[in-house]
Amino acid sequence: MMTWKDIMHYATKGNPEPDRRVAKSLETWKEELSPEVYRITRQHGTEAPHSGALCSTHEPGVYRCACCDTPLFDSRIKFDSGTGWPSFTQPIQENAVKYLRDTSFGMVRVETRCNTCDAHLGHVFPDGPEPGGLRFCINSLALKLEKTD
Ligand code: FE
Repeated sequence: MMTWKDIMHYATKGNPEPDRRVAKSLETWKEELSPEVYRITRQHGTEAPHSGALCSTHEPGVYRCACCDTPLFDSRIKFDSGTGWPSFTQPIQENAVKYLRDTSFGMVRVETRCNTCDAHLGHVFPDGPEPGGLRFCINSLALKLEKTD
């Protein structure tokens, strides 16, 4: 289980190797993605709270990157944070997500990106539920839910 200490280590010392990498030009992403998904994932946008389709769903399944389909989160680690964004306590595996220090808007935060294709996902905070204490706050538009039975 990852802890805030692991997140800070990755954000300051560098991230683990992903299983694979997907690299495309911004022009190609723009052709492939809807304008909304492009704005969030490629231009570091943030969707309005409570606007995302995946915000309050608790159907079983795997949450994949909206850009490259890599599994990022699992419905079993999703929780209701009350923030208006899909929230998770852990990534699906330790090298699925990358962590970067984000000092925009006068705050020090940790940005989360897809470790495979560099899509902006959201942020992670150290105020999640025990035992891990993490809260991954992710834009719904950065994810696709693949439902399982
Ligand atoms: Fe991706």
